[in-house]
Amino acid sequence: MTDPITEARQRAEGLKAAIRSFYDGVMPVDLKRKSRLHQVLDKDDYVRWMRLLNDQGWAVGHWPKEYGGQAWSLLERFSFEDQLARLGCPWVIPFGVKYVGPVIYAFGSPEQKARFLPRIATTDDFWAQGYSEPGAGSDLAGLRTEAIRVESSEGDHYVVNGQKVWTTYAQWADWLFCLVKTARGEQAQKSISFLLIDMRSPGVTVKPIPTMDGYHHVNEVWLENVRVPAENLVGAEGEGWTYAKYLLKNERTAGAIVGMAWHALERLKGLAAEAAPASRDRLETRIGELELRFMALEVASYQAVESMMRGTEHGAEASLIKLRGTELYQHIAEAAVDTLGLAGVAWDAAALHAAAPPPLGPEDAGGIVKDHFYNRAATIFGGASEIQRNIVAKGVLGL
Ligand SMILES: Cc1cc2nc3c(=O)[nH]c(=O)nc-3n(C[C@H](O)[C@H](O)[C@H](O)COP(=O)(O)OP(=O)(O)OC[C@H]3O[C@@H](n4cnc5c(N)ncnc54)[C@H](O)[C@@H]3O)c2cc1C
Repeated sequence: MTDPITEARQRAEGLKAAIRSFYDGVMPVDLKRKSRLHQVLDKDDYVRWMRLLNDQGWAVGHWPKEYGGQAWSLLERFSFEDQLARLGCPWVIPFGVKYVGPVIYAFGSPEQKARFLPRIATTDDFWAQGYSEPGAGSDLAGLRTEAIRVESSEGDHYVVNGQKVWTTYAQWADWLFCLVKTARGEQAQKSISFLLIDMRSPGVTVKPIPTMDGYHHVNEVWLENVRVPAENLVGAEGEGWTYAKYLLKNERTAGAIVGMAWHALERLKGLAAEAAPASRDRLETRIGELELRFMALEVASYQAVESMMRGTEHGAEASLIKLRGTELYQHIAEAAVDTLGLAGVAWDAAALHAAAPPPLGPEDAGGIVKDHFYNRAATIFGGASEIQRNIVAKGVLGL
């Protein structure tokens, strides 16, 4: 009998080859160009992208077969995101397919599964994640958004009041999966519930938060007397913490960071090859160091994924990958902006939005700088670096 890891490795290699030929033969030229130049993608681009992935059976490849997935192993799942990112593809928007979808099939009611899962797979519904609040980010136990259950002859419902913050793509979202407090005075973690909120409900207001890359990613979401049918509660009241933790584990196990680092490193090498001869020696040393760190990340990540599959993990693998991967990516991006020289300084967000050439430098100069700005946030979202270090300290060092 073949060892399951060997089988998974073979399937992951097959998947990588299939992604390569999809990229060469199926991916539309305009999407390829936009993502190669790191230009701004709008909602239509992302929906088209997610549907293209779904047409290949990949958007929900990691879901169980009974819900339309392919029951990918963790290795296939990790390699999938890694390979797409190496090719410079847009990211796989995680909120539906990766975050709330698995929570619904693992803990949702049969009605929720039938209603939401097919529309998540096809991106007919666009989802956003309503976890963070002012005062509740790293420590979600500080949540204050309150949902009071009301029994009524027209159907039981919750009345939700509070504010979410940093909600990515809330401006495009049809649905928000949301952590709310359903009890007062209880131990914090026993009072949290997981609600699905229709963004068109009266009382939902989305306010943009401008970011320094000149793009609109994140928002405040205000919830004022929002009426949410009780049937939109996932699982049991007061058990939201369990579902939130399940989701956070999926959030942190991302192969994209390895692929993004690889892609950015390759581009950095290209920029260095065009740099003035006088600065090349210094660049070569810097690139050499980054490349060594990349190799360590790549080996450690795949070893970690395999140990998770074998059940021999120490529990901090996902944190290690997130921590090392995001920090390395930021350092590569800094080196790329330095290498651009004046073209890195003459950055024009308007040109990027208009898909126009940057004021100076190579075609992708504006996109490289935009990504550098945006990715300052990568060591904050999905669990800040300090939090990951705490997890590593506990899991690996036993502190
Ligand atoms: C671009 C972007 C997109 C985001 N998208 C979403 C989204 O779609 N949905 C969503 O719900 N949230 C989202 N977030 C929010 C993100 O998850 C939080 O910003 C993150 O969890 C940190 O929380 P905080 O901002 O409240 O900072 P805090 O938790 O207040 O942390 C502030 C600082 O203190 C440090 N710190 C906190 N606690 C500890 C500790 N115990 N030990 C050591 N250091 C500590 C942190 O590491 C950080 O440096 C997004 C954030 C950004 C920047």
